[in-house]
Amino acid sequence: MLSAARRLLPHVSRVVQHSSVRQEHSLKEVVSAFRSVCGEDGVSTGESVRQQHGKDESVHRCRPPDVVVFPRCVEEVSALAKICNRHNLPIIPFGTGTGLEGGVGALKGGVCFSLRKMDKVLDVHQEDFDVTVEPGVTRKALNSYLRDTGLWFPVDPGADASLCGMAATSASGTNAVHYGTMRENVLNLEVVLADGTIVHTAGKGRRPRKSVAGYNLTNLFVGSEGTLGIITKATLRLYGIPEAVVSAVCSFPSVQAAVDSTVHILQAGVPIARIEFLDDVMIDACNKFSSLSYPVMPTLFLEFHGTENSLNEQVRTTEEITSANGGADFQWALDEETRARLWKARHDAWYAGLALRPGCKAYATDVCVPLSRLPNIIVETKEDLIQNRLTGPIAGHVGDGNFHCLMVLDPDDSDEVQRVHLFTERLARRALALEGTCTGEHGVGLGKRALLREEMGPGAMGVMQSLKETLDPRNLMNPGKVL
Ligand SMILES: Cc1cc2nc3c(=O)[nH]c(=O)nc-3n(C[C@H](O)[C@H](O)[C@H](O)COP(=O)(O)OP(=O)(O)OC[C@H]3O[C@@H](n4cnc5c(N)ncnc54)[C@H](O)[C@@H]3O)c2cc1C
Repeated sequence: MLSAARRLLPHVSRVVQHSSVRQEHSLKEVVSAFRSVCGEDGVSTGESVRQQHGKDESVHRCRPPDVVVFPRCVEEVSALAKICNRHNLPIIPFGTGTGLEGGVGALKGGVCFSLRKMDKVLDVHQEDFDVTVEPGVTRKALNSYLRDTGLWFPVDPGADASLCGMAATSASGTNAVHYGTMRENVLNLEVVLADGTIVHTAGKGRRPRKSVAGYNLTNLFVGSEGTLGIITKATLRLYGIPEAVVSAVCSFPSVQAAVDSTVHILQAGVPIARIEFLDDVMIDACNKFSSLSYPVMPTLFLEFHGTENSLNEQVRTTEEITSANGGADFQWALDEETRARLWKARHDAWYAGLALRPGCKAYATDVCVPLSRLPNIIVETKEDLIQNRLTGPIAGHVGDGNFHCLMVLDPDDSDEVQRVHLFTERLARRALALEGTCTGEHGVGLGKRALLREEMGPGAMGVMQSLKETLDPRNLMNPGKVL
């Protein structure tokens, strides 16, 4: 069973040649070892199941794993990882496959760990505002489970992603300006390392709101994109459902005016819960897709959470600021149904953008800059799009300085594909030049590894590489991603 490469492994850590289950004659042997752990229906080598697990929502092509396993508990995950480790097989964790950077593709073959059968909400501590979940629980499933408790989990990437996939990508989304990203909301993780060892990043069963005990292992795994271990449990912060919620939409004469309003609202200390920017192209697409009739101008979608009294104050200050910046057509959404419609339109922006060019594919860029740099980068980016004849409606979590161009492209038009590629690199480098990052929330995955090196420089990259080698010396965890 041991390949020549594997026999060398104890001496070679950086360059590792992985075994492919299919190349080996021992496919049956490995599959039967997997079946002995998680049962007949816990293992699949079927073509369609492998295809389904070799791709996320990005434009990266499908790279199916050799085998998909469906463990039911952490002990099974650990036992399966030990088998992979013994046979030198890559391990690719899979949540719900909504990632946007090609993170689940099995570049070197191997075993996809689909965690969807581990879908229990474990301990809810109402009085402590925390909950522990298994990796297959999605954010919508958690929030419907919590409905009667008066609590909710606010991190909301739009897609109904798994919470441990969200931890693995450090997801954020529309509520992050107020409630933070996954980084601020994970208290503890249970992780299975590549050799099957089970660790608890903040100590087994611990859930303090704050801790300075030792290195911050939790945030080492948050955002590690499946390259350091398989997250099998997450303890998350919860929040009280706000007493009152108001949403609003406001149009602006220019991008600058919309972004200036955002900066002024935050500077005024308004505890805004959501503040989302849509450029004229995106609002036009949303109007058409969601049967709305907002003015086709740079637009902010806003939401305020709090008590009735505090909302009055927040709303008054915001109206003053937006009108001072030329904002008009302020439309309030007070009832739940209107608010839900408004935010559904925002969350459907991806599909609205796609509908601009039926039959095309979408690639969502993702950069983040300090707030004061936002107007510059958005204005320059819009000019770049026009000059290069590209369709790229812009939507952004502007309160965090984070925005996306939804590049809608014909994948069969090689000239257009090349123009999009060059555009996205220019955009990322523009963000780096403005002291920002090449990714605010979608992650590095496959496509941004070179940009990560530019962003970090050799010192920080060296530390990341050493951490990877310590935790995963055989480079079995999701190889070819991030580093
Ligand atoms: C329409 C749309 C809108 C989106 N909007 C946003 C947004 O606003 N903000 C945002 O942050 N993201 C957004 N996303 C991206 C996506 O939803 C997030 O990246 C999400 O966190 C991925 O979770 P998942 O469970 O689908 O992970 P997957 O796609 O299954 O996996 C993503 C990565 O995490 C790893 N992984 C998954 N589960 C685990 C685990 N248990 N342990 C270790 N590693 C694991 C995988 O190996 C892979 O590298 C959007 C996606 C879509 C389709």
